[in-house]
Amino acid sequence: MSDCIFCKILAGEIPASKVYEDDQALAFLDISQVTPGHTLVVPKKHHRNLLEMDATSASQLFAKIPAIAQKVMKATKADGMNIIANCEEIAGQTVFHTHVHLVPRYGTDDDLKIDFVAHEPDFDKLAQVAETIKNA
Ligand code: 5GP
Ligand code: ZN
Repeated sequence: MSDCIFCKILAGEIPASKVYEDDQALAFLDISQVTPGHTLVVPKKHHRNLLEMDATSASQLFAKIPAIAQKVMKATKADGMNIIANCEEIAGQTVFHTHVHLVPRYGTDDDLKIDFVAHEPDFDKLAQVAETIKNA
């Protein structure tokens, strides 16, 4: 897509700090470096986000993730990693070309803040929601 920043990086029109490339995917450092080594893995074919990908395209992309993530872990000596795909604006997506964030973690005071607010389990509600999703 002509106005897509990641397509421009893939086409070599914009520079990027590449860490891995093959015929289907490219991994490069996120310009914002939320934590040191923060990497993006993108498929070479443009899709808006994961919600729009078919099983084959998604499996080709995800097949690359463990090896690239392991390289980032090895290089950064991080203690763990969050692997995140933001889909749509409400979920924090700002670049509308599928990408997977690899965010190495160094401690509770590093700069990635994810807050899962846990609620008391309501088992009737869980069963109802599961049924709705199953039938969707
Ligand atoms: P999102 O918010 O869509 O999940 O993630 C998009 C990411 O792309 C952001 O973390 C942002 O820092 C990164 N980004 C945006 N523009 C560029 C760019 O030109 N080069 C690189 N390397 N990263 C970018
Ligand atoms: Zn694109």
